[in-house]
Amino acid sequence: MSLPDFVIEAKGLVKTYPASKTGPAKTALKSVDLAIPRGSVFGLLGPNGAGKSTFINILAGLVNKTSGTVKLWGIDIDEQPRSARAAIGVVPQEIAADVFFTPRESMETQAGLYGVPKAERRTDEILAALGLSDKADAYVRQLSGGMKRRLMVAKAMVHNPPILILDEPTAGVDVELRRQLWTYVQALNAQGVTIVLTTHYLEEAQALCDTIAIINRGEVVACEPTGDLLRRFDSRAVIITPKTPLTAVPPLNGFEGKLKPDGRLVISFKADTAGIEDVLSAVREAGIGIKDLSTEEADLEDVFLALTYNDPNAIDPTAY
Ligand code: ADP
Repeated sequence: MSLPDFVIEAKGLVKTYPASKTGPAKTALKSVDLAIPRGSVFGLLGPNGAGKSTFINILAGLVNKTSGTVKLWGIDIDEQPRSARAAIGVVPQEIAADVFFTPRESMETQAGLYGVPKAERRTDEILAALGLSDKADAYVRQLSGGMKRRLMVAKAMVHNPPILILDEPTAGVDVELRRQLWTYVQALNAQGVTIVLTTHYLEEAQALCDTIAIINRGEVVACEPTGDLLRRFDSRAVIITPKTPLTAVPPLNGFEGKLKPDGRLVISFKADTAGIEDVLSAVREAGIGIKDLSTEEADLEDVFLALTYNDPNAIDPTAY
């Protein structure tokens, strides 16, 4: 079989949680179409409650979808659930450590669950890759939080899946461990493993992911290469404190200026159509003396806010 171009493909995926004592029915995914390219480091971003975990739990077989289709490595999860799921390794959000096992035993048990023959097991290799060799025979309860988390990644890799899914891999971990996990994820990706991760850290997504999907209220609102996503919102702003307070914004040669309550003038522009020099010329032509000046560039945070922003009256997106 030739390799699939897209290793995860969801079409018209819907999940409605039924009403219960604790609340009414809730549609967490509203006809989601998502295609994750082979070889990518793919980021799934979205605010709390957007539906990210629901999506991942459907892939992992922990939640039943309401309708739609999902293929993992080209295999339909309804038609061949076991083969489809053998293509993914899932690192859950919660650390669920078997405290009475050693990492080696824990890995062997997991390999057994996946039916990996003894001769094909790579326990030592995987533990070494995650910097856990010298803890292989220690009790899990003696490991630090960071080590436990690395063990979770190791366990997800026992059956050598071509797709690794990480749900909030670095939530609550320190900077050093975060960097270690990034390095390992990048090394796996360089070996051909497709990585899918959800994260709250936009900085992490920007640093690690080549493709990003943003999901909001159960809908995919963007899915494109990280660079394209950032360029699409490549707006910048020049923020000027005028020498003499302004009472109104004068014409600025086609640029749009906004006066802040503190008297600063914010001029936004698209970086692909104008430069800071053009903005400053317009300011000079308008006779505005500049006391102080700063600039702002759009980053993933701005993109994210622009796309997931639900109540336009809640905050001023141009508030600097
Ligand atoms: P995220 O991972 O992006 O924070 P979730 O997939 O956990 O989002 O949740 C999406 C929506 O579905 C939320 O409104 C959440 O309250 C609801 N939800 C999640 N799990 C359940 C469940 N087991 N029963 C009912 N509603 C749920």
